Amino acid sequence: MMEKFKEWYEKRHDYAQEWKNKTGGKVVGYFCTYVPEEILYAAGVLPVRILGSHEPQDVTEPHIFGMYCPFCRDCLAQGLKGKYDYLDGIMIAQSCLHIRQTYTSWKIHKPVDFSYYLPMPNNVQSKRSLPYLKGELEVFKKAVEEWTGKTITDDDLNKGIEIMNTSRALTRKLYDLRKESNPPLSGLEAMYAVVASQMVDKKDYNETLQELLEKLPRRQLENSSKIRLMILGSEDDDTEFVEMVESLGAIFVVDDHCTGSRYFWNEVSSNGNPLEAIAARYVERVPCPSKDWPERTRIEHIKKLAQDWKVQGAVVIQQKFCDPHELDIPAIIKSLKEEGIPAQFLEFDVTVPIGQFKTRVEAFLEMLGEEDLY
Ligand code: SF4
Repeated sequence: MMEKFKEWYEKRHDYAQEWKNKTGGKVVGYFCTYVPEEILYAAGVLPVRILGSHEPQDVTEPHIFGMYCPFCRDCLAQGLKGKYDYLDGIMIAQSCLHIRQTYTSWKIHKPVDFSYYLPMPNNVQSKRSLPYLKGELEVFKKAVEEWTGKTITDDDLNKGIEIMNTSRALTRKLYDLRKESNPPLSGLEAMYAVVASQMVDKKDYNETLQELLEKLPRRQLENSSKIRLMILGSEDDDTEFVEMVESLGAIFVVDDHCTGSRYFWNEVSSNGNPLEAIAARYVERVPCPSKDWPERTRIEHIKKLAQDWKVQGAVVIQQKFCDPHELDIPAIIKSLKEEGIPAQFLEFDVTVPIGQFKTRVEAFLEMLGEEDLY
């Protein structure tokens, strides 16, 4: 079953194409986890997160500034190369300017039937953000109704909320198993699961994960004395890097990435007006650093994760030129150090220099060993 998540991750395009053939439904590619997938599920549309391929490319240079983050350029390259030609629509909810440029450029150069920019407020700490977002979700709902020809009722919205919340609760259970002294799954396996959840129909994901959760507690990984690491920072689905680190006697037990825990951490309340409840979830969720101001709330969350998952060291990664994370990382590293958690900073590009990073991670793990923190 663990292999299923890897297969979905690697064959994401085949999955989406087969889903379309099977259901006759529409697929929307989205660029940021602030997109309210609940409304798309309510309309019977499959939301698929657009991610890069980690392969060198030379097609984005004329369309996106070279000093925008490599993740944004990699995502745009997928569109320009036709890897997502099956999409019926694309959308983004405002987060950082880099990924918005990917959306805008994609819209111009690979026009699709439906494209939507959702003005998700950046100042989520303002009291006005909730009523503002609720209003924007009403406008978005109408746009989806016009596009699909389907009226979205409150009952549909509640079903959309339920499928998303179930997925969140199940993934949270998967992460809870990683608190154990000998976790029954590796960080790589967890990454495949949570990233696959962003690409496949949540119905398929929920069924598979539910079945897996019944069996996982009985699973024993070979080595129980691994160094417990946390990984956090910019977008990250770099499985090759995670695999390399875990081959050195460490295990990632938790993360704070938009492709990881930030994606599923908060649920939508099932009480009251569904659109208001959805808006509240996206305003109150663990924020992307582009929205975590004037107060920095994410640091306390990260420290709590580190405590609860008994983390011994942190790998802090930043996509090159990623401004939002670059601003947060020094404060995060300082706070972790004050908690007695050393951190290793690494800058990621479309491809990462595995050999060079291996040497740095080995030195970091050796230092953690010498400090006898485990
Ligand atoms: S937050 Fe950083 S990693 Fe994410 S899209 Fe923006 S610049 Fe890229």
